[in-house]
Amino acid sequence: MEDYRHILFATDLGPECQLVGRRALSLARRYEAELTLIHVVEYMVAEPSYDLMVPSPTEVENNLVDSARGQIRAVARDLGIPGANCRVEMGTTKGEIVRVAEETGVDLIVVGSHGRHGIGLLLGSTANAVLHGAPCDTLAVRIPTEQG
Ligand code: AMP
Repeated sequence: MEDYRHILFATDLGPECQLVGRRALSLARRYEAELTLIHVVEYMVAEPSYDLMVPSPTEVENNLVDSARGQIRAVARDLGIPGANCRVEMGTTKGEIVRVAEETGVDLIVVGSHGRHGIGLLLGSTANAVLHGAPCDTLAVRIPTEQG
C-alpha cells in the first residue's frame, strides 16, 4: 500500500473533534503526510414558503465564517499544531469536503462517526455521505455514544 501524502481532517468543531483530530494527526505523523483541517459552514435560510434556499453572501454568513476560522484555529492549537493548514468553506458539508479533497490531491479523509441507529441511520450521516462521494480513502473514526 502506498503511503498517504495528504490527509484531510473534517471537523464539525464539536466537543468530540479532538478525538477524531488526534487520529488524523497520528496518521499524518506516521506517514509524514501533509494535514489539512476543514470546517464547512452550512447556512441556509427558510423562506416563508418553507422552501430552503442557499442565500447569497451576507453579513451573517461572513460572521459565521469568521467565527468558524477562530474555532478551527483553536482546534489546531489544542491538537498541538497551531501552524496547521485550516480551511473554512461555505456550502454543503459533503460537497465541500469532496471538492477540496479533489482539488488538493487529498488521499485520505478522516471524519467522525456516531454509528447512529434508527432514524439517524435512515437520515444518513456526514461520514456516510462523504464515503460515497470521496475520490479517495475515507476513515470514519467511531465516536462512542452513551450506549457504547
Ligand atoms: P455527523 O454526521 O454530523 O455526526 O458528523 C460526523 C462527522 O462529519 C464529524 O465528526 C466531522 O468529522 C464531519 N462533519 C460534520 N459536520 C461537519 C462540518 N460542518 N464541517 C466539516 N466536517 C463536518
